[in-house]
Amino acid sequence: MSKASRPYGAVLLLCYNITDMNSERTLIRDLPKNTNKTATIYGWLHKKRLLGGLNFITVRDRSGVAQSLIENKAELEKLRGLQIGTVVEFIGKVVKDDRAPNGVELHDVKVEVLSPVTDEPPIEIDKPISHQSEHLDTLFENRVLNVRNLQEQKIFLIRSAVVQYLREFLLQNEFTEIDTPKLLAEATEGGSEVFQLDYFGKTATLAQSPQFYKQIMVGAYERVFEINHAYRAEPSATTRHLTECTMLDLEMGFCDHAQVRQMVGDGVKYVLTKLYKVFAHELKSFNAPELRLTDEIPAFSIAKIHEMYTKATKIDTTQEKDLIPDEEKFICDYARKQFGSDLVYATDFPLEAAKFYHKIDAEKAVTMWADLLFRGVEIATVPMREHNYTKLVEQMKAAGLNPNDSGFKYYLQAFKYGLPPHGGCGLGVDRLTQKAIGLNNIKEATLFPRDLNRLAP
Ligand code: ATP
Ligand code: MG
Repeated sequence: MSKASRPYGAVLLLCYNITDMNSERTLIRDLPKNTNKTATIYGWLHKKRLLGGLNFITVRDRSGVAQSLIENKAELEKLRGLQIGTVVEFIGKVVKDDRAPNGVELHDVKVEVLSPVTDEPPIEIDKPISHQSEHLDTLFENRVLNVRNLQEQKIFLIRSAVVQYLREFLLQNEFTEIDTPKLLAEATEGGSEVFQLDYFGKTATLAQSPQFYKQIMVGAYERVFEINHAYRAEPSATTRHLTECTMLDLEMGFCDHAQVRQMVGDGVKYVLTKLYKVFAHELKSFNAPELRLTDEIPAFSIAKIHEMYTKATKIDTTQEKDLIPDEEKFICDYARKQFGSDLVYATDFPLEAAKFYHKIDAEKAVTMWADLLFRGVEIATVPMREHNYTKLVEQMKAAGLNPNDSGFKYYLQAFKYGLPPHGGCGLGVDRLTQKAIGLNNIKEATLFPRDLNRLAP
């Protein structure tokens, strides 16, 4: 089979063993198996070419594209005036032809139009779609149609696989998948990046993460995860923030920080390794960087990174409680050069950075919190939580919060009635996909991105 005709959906279909709903239908990827037979294909007109009186029509279905040669005038007439995107049924003879996309062509085609398209589409589906930063707005404005472009489709096949592999890894490690509300009474975690909305005359907020719920669920299942949307009222336009993002949140009990870090690191390595194997061809078509992973993920404390960065750039970051974006790039470049690793942990966040639910390492006077960085950007936050009820209440009070506040009632119940030592992570699926492919902007890895200026499509 030629490379050009590689059926992108096939890898996933192999795993799911899908049988088609219409037994008469041959999926385009299966045409070569039907050489010299009559086959029926369904799909969209993808490309039309007139070559010296010969009409080559390319049809796309979910498994690939196929070329058809239509010579019969009456059949051709049925397509007169119809545009790319027209939904068709073609019945024809499968003929071997090495010049065709997947080594075969349909001849003597009988055409049936299922959904005619008479308006010329605003973009050419078969032309490369520009991802230059100045063209991104046009890209999203035309999203409904440009997802039909074969190269564009690869991004979301890869993203679908990222989610599948994450889930696969976690299920293999006995995590239970949960699903928690995104409409909340109040922003119990606090912070300014909270969306508020009118909820039948009361104020509700959109969840920034399932933080409290996943911790509560450790009390039932020990190991839980959720892959769902999180909402952040990020007021600035960056290449790494969305206002609605997809996060993998996991939480595990009976573990120490090293074990949580190991689990998250192993999960990300599992996803990337499998992705680079199964989607090697697709990733190459995006010029994705070569994947470099090490058995042990290099780790540096926040203080050490500040020190190294300040020394190298003469920009003093030693008073910062988190890494600045340029430091994330700096330490990732360092880890790649010195250790051959695309992943690096930034550990030991300063006490000032801690949220009330974080576990403190009193001896080292740091927060038990690490960030996992990948190719220049934070992809996951990986802390331990304070599991002791009395200590947690103390930490709440010290942070100026009222433990009797109704927003904490159910959360604290979980601790009062027994939670083991636990930790977890929040990992950005959009960022992981973006960086795995090597896209410049997180929005390119998101189907219908939401940001400061965009709420549609
Ligand atoms: P950053 O410092 O980059 O803004 P954060 O530390 O505020 O991120 P967390 O609250 O730690 O983010 O969220 C966990 C993970 O979720 C992040 O590591 C990132 O991968 C992802 N994430 C967080 N906020 C966003 C966002 N606005 N858009 C896309 N992904 C996000
Ligand atoms: Mg973070």
